[in-house]
Amino acid sequence: MGKVNRQEILDVLKGYDKENITIATLGSHTSLHILKGAKKEGFKTAVVCEKGREVPYKRFKVADEYIIVDKFSDIVNDDVQEKLRAMNSIVVPHGSFVAYAGLDRIEDDFNVPMFGNRDILRWESERDLERKLMIESNIRIPRKFTDPSEIDRTVMIKFPGARGGRGYFVASTPEEFHQKIDSMLKREWIGEEDVENAHIEEYVSGCNYCIHYFYSALNDEVELMGMDSRYESNIDGLTRIPAKDQLDVALDPSYVITGNHPVVMRESLLSQVFEIGDNLVEGAKKLVAPGMSGPFCMQSLCTDDLEIVVFEMSARIDGGTNTFMDSSPYSYLLFGENMSMGRRIAREIKNGIESDRLDILIT
Ligand code: ADP
Repeated sequence: MGKVNRQEILDVLKGYDKENITIATLGSHTSLHILKGAKKEGFKTAVVCEKGREVPYKRFKVADEYIIVDKFSDIVNDDVQEKLRAMNSIVVPHGSFVAYAGLDRIEDDFNVPMFGNRDILRWESERDLERKLMIESNIRIPRKFTDPSEIDRTVMIKFPGARGGRGYFVASTPEEFHQKIDSMLKREWIGEEDVENAHIEEYVSGCNYCIHYFYSALNDEVELMGMDSRYESNIDGLTRIPAKDQLDVALDPSYVITGNHPVVMRESLLSQVFEIGDNLVEGAKKLVAPGMSGPFCMQSLCTDDLEIVVFEMSARIDGGTNTFMDSSPYSYLLFGENMSMGRRIAREIKNGIESDRLDILIT
């Protein structure tokens, strides 16, 4: 539990002019549609921007106020926090915000009201906590192998830290595991410390669906907002050359995200999709009070048995929501109007203000 406590944040919120709230975020990741959505719902907007990276915000005209900093991580500096509070800001956290501000600073000294549950951010960042949350939520995840000697099927080997899947590889026997590890050590793609921390999990053969949900804490309901699949370099380029040439080029496959495609699922799979979202919300209520609130994403693979296996989750807005800055087929079904994830967040905040329950949505 961090040093920023709920009461302190609620005190800051009490001092805010509720008629004059600003929705603020760091200029990166999903900030364009977070800010655009906020404006659509009638809020003022502010972007904390690294010097030299203002162009998209100025050209798309999504921000009313700019707080320019030397580097992204300065968003947690006292003077920036003061400016944010002076504007009655509610900060929307996203992947880059978490990466640049750092979990420790967010938990210990970011004294600005944030949308959603700030304590759950650690649960998506640490692999063991993430697995614990998914197991508690009864979600089908890839089987984990604790020792290479147990490998009895095709597995994927992952290494610690977000490194865009660099050095990840596939093996089917303990011998193949050791062979590949040795060759990667020799090429210095990995170090000895990586070998000790190698994470071995069942390789799931299927199609990628990243499912974007919004849990409304006000309505106690999970909404399906959209889906995307990933466009990753270099793996998606590698697969465009014939298999025999793939063997010859001996390139190190990586999964660096460069973009996203919007996608829809077979309609018959949607009940499974809702069950996964509902289960996660139930699990989060038990493990991380006050539970999930706002956007989350389940990154999955759907097998040819039509089973959805979740290999990763985001407990905040995920980058793939950029595929529906206007609407997705699913958000259209639910709202019948243009509804991005950013706008959905702003709508929730607006509903919270109108029903005098903003405190439920803020930590
Ligand atoms: P990172 O977070 O380091 O980018 P991910 O865990 O997202 O790594 O994995 C990168 C890619 O590897 C995913 O986009 C997915 O296509 C693939 N992948 C991950 N886990 C599995 C798995 N268990 N089985 C098959 N493919 C997987």
